[in-house]
Amino acid sequence: MASKNACPLAFVGLLVEANDDWSLSIERCVMVVLNDKIVDRGQVSDLKIMILKYNIQQENIIVLTDTQFILPGLIDTHIHAPQFPNAGLALDLPLLDWLEKYTFPTEAKFKDTDFANEVYNRCVRTTLSSGTTTAVYFSSIHRESSLILAKICENLGQRAFIGKVCMDRNSPEYYCETTQDSLQETKQFIKQITDMKSDLIQPVITPRFVPSCSRQLMSELGALASKDNLHIQTHISENLKEVEWVKALEPDCNSYTEVYEKTGLLTDKTILAHGVHLQEKELQTIRKCGAGVSHCPNSNFSLKSGVCDARRLKDSGVKVGLGTDCSGGYSPSLLNAMRLAILASNTVKINKNEDEYKPLTYADAIYLATRGSALLLDMTDTLGSLKPGYLADFLLVDMAVNDATKPFGTETSEDLVHKFVFLADDRNISQVYVAGQLVKK
Ligand SMILES: [Zn+2]
Repeated sequence: MASKNACPLAFVGLLVEANDDWSLSIERCVMVVLNDKIVDRGQVSDLKIMILKYNIQQENIIVLTDTQFILPGLIDTHIHAPQFPNAGLALDLPLLDWLEKYTFPTEAKFKDTDFANEVYNRCVRTTLSSGTTTAVYFSSIHRESSLILAKICENLGQRAFIGKVCMDRNSPEYYCETTQDSLQETKQFIKQITDMKSDLIQPVITPRFVPSCSRQLMSELGALASKDNLHIQTHISENLKEVEWVKALEPDCNSYTEVYEKTGLLTDKTILAHGVHLQEKELQTIRKCGAGVSHCPNSNFSLKSGVCDARRLKDSGVKVGLGTDCSGGYSPSLLNAMRLAILASNTVKINKNEDEYKPLTYADAIYLATRGSALLLDMTDTLGSLKPGYLADFLLVDMAVNDATKPFGTETSEDLVHKFVFLADDRNISQVYVAGQLVKK
């Protein structure tokens, strides 16, 4: 990655961002970026003052056209990098059979670091190009390949949380670890990531899910997360058969959530993927612990797992972010996840047939992919906003680049954003900045 740019940049145009109350702000502003942060923001009429204040060179003033706007970078809180070759394939089976037949054999190939290098480069280039400025990755059980993923994210300039997957039971012989190996390799991986001293990369404690992890492994991983104050990611309550299996495996726990609670894996830095079938009491526990759910609507539809009611999670006070869950979700793009979050919510509405139920809107989808995901990561002070002090992770969107999205001239600013959510693709994401660095142009 190029060295930090010490020249201040000024962007003049429409800034679009979600607020903590899930509302949307659309404002014509000047935004000043210096090094890795947004350092100032003001009225367009303040441009001259800002130019003098920050000594901004003419060539570093970017004036947006009427069809362009800036949006905080999208944050994918749940994606499996080694499943990238399977994106768009193998969606004929439900979760547990899908894991056995397609997913474990694919992930096992990441013992080969050359293969990992090729796939991970393509995966990170694809997600960055789609506007994912921060990704929370599951890798495979292999430490060396997981480290390759970290280095690729660092080189290509994507902010990333990377977890070496841990699994020591109920897994095929060719893709399983001993408890001790899983712990030792995780500790070594954390050390190697820490030694990278990267501002972009952090390790995540990653027990795959309860069926794949012994109580001892989960407890020791919980202790490790607590000792180093690390993020934790896992799956929860995705599919009904899985929920039944967890009950049978852990009969002394009243719920799936209780297994994670008892093993110290439920903290304010825990990302629980899916949460489709959570009971009320589980939601209370998750809220009490400060954990949250990564809503993965594409995967939930594609693997026929169920329809997660994101509105219910929100109303229960549980943090909600968005995930692609590629390749359980066929698309690695968060724009796709935003759309499917809206359709999942519409599906809940249709099934409930209640007038008062309010399905998610395009504005809610933007919240989930930016501010909600930042909250899920416990990083609301640094990510998901265009205000001074925040990390300069943002997208420059242009709706004029193709006929499907090009405005007809009658659209309001809200209309531009609305169409972006439903119709845009990576062509519309003209530039991507991470930590103030241009990583897609
Ligand atoms: Zn997943």
